[in-house]
Amino acid sequence: RHKEKWAATAPRIPSTRLALHHFDTSYSLHLGALWPSVRAGLLCEQKYGALLNNFAAADHVPEELELLNATDFISEALQKAEMVAQAEMSPPLCTSISSKIKCYTFPRGDITRFRPARPDGLGLLDYYLMDAASLLPVLALHVQPDDFVLDLCAAPGGKTLALLQTGFCGHLAANDVSISRTKRLHQILHSYVPREVRDTVSVTSYDGRDWDQVKGGTFHKVLVDVPCTTDRHSAVEEDNNIFHRRRTKERQMLPMLQLQLLMAGILAARPGGAVVYSTCSLSPLQNECVVERALDVARAQFNITLHPEDLSHFRTLFQDTFSFFSECRLGELVLPHLTANFGPMYFCKLRRV
Ligand code: SAM
Repeated sequence: RHKEKWAATAPRIPSTRLALHHFDTSYSLHLGALWPSVRAGLLCEQKYGALLNNFAAADHVPEELELLNATDFISEALQKAEMVAQAEMSPPLCTSISSKIKCYTFPRGDITRFRPARPDGLGLLDYYLMDAASLLPVLALHVQPDDFVLDLCAAPGGKTLALLQTGFCGHLAANDVSISRTKRLHQILHSYVPREVRDTVSVTSYDGRDWDQVKGGTFHKVLVDVPCTTDRHSAVEEDNNIFHRRRTKERQMLPMLQLQLLMAGILAARPGGAVVYSTCSLSPLQNECVVERALDVARAQFNITLHPEDLSHFRTLFQDTFSFFSECRLGELVLPHLTANFGPMYFCKLRRV
């Protein structure tokens, strides 16, 4: 009896502590000497970028942000790369980056916060605050004019909004299994996108694993931004933490769910189309291993050949803004760092032959 009472009142181990313990064990092996600094980054305030809303009447915003010493990290990187290419008489690195997406960030080591977004005369907000590293998977997708684009796990919609900022989506299908999160996606579209553009987006709430039964092989570009251990959240937030003991099974099943979603994304892409897989985890089991397994399954079960695309030029282009891990077997990984506290963000691009 006494023991029962003791068991009932024993302090629960916080999920954040379980997460950190798990990370300490696995990431110290994977990241080696880099892990202590990445760990410090995960535990400190994350840095944001301001994704400019091209649909809002906000011409004054770039000037306002530049006065605060923020810069559009994308155009800055592209300009720098062009200058280097001219000086070295080599081909530019940047032909595959859309310059319509503009995202302001403060320089390395500057932890100034952005003011909240403001509405223009028609009520559209001027920018969207997000982890700037979340734009890298969208840039990697390299949307071209009139592309049919699928965002398979789209809510709450930061990347969907970035896809629309390219101005190139012929049609955008934004899907997410969660009804409540899909509502947030609708809200974001309402706050940032005019009606005529919203009408080109179809929002659905299917289980992404079943997408093939809906519309297979039709998209030029597919983004598969899967649910993952959301390492930054898991390290600091008790709420909705996937390291909660009750969610152990769900957490262990993540790589399987990620593989199924990536396979659905691959089947949704047309031959010649491209798929970008992304997570906000540092775990190789959720990153490279899922992609490698998908390459095998696509070949063995569906006779589909995929070519992983080299994205190492992202590392060169955006080295001033992000801290990259240089040893990924496949794809690229942004590591949190105290002076550039974005990420984690893993992304890998596959071209369907
Ligand atoms: N792309 C989003 C963004 O940039 O705002 C974030 C996506 S979040 C990392 C992963 C999403 O996958 C969650 O919103 C979750 O509801 C959704 N999800 C989980 N299981 C899914 C499934 N079986 N099919 C489709 N979406 C799923």
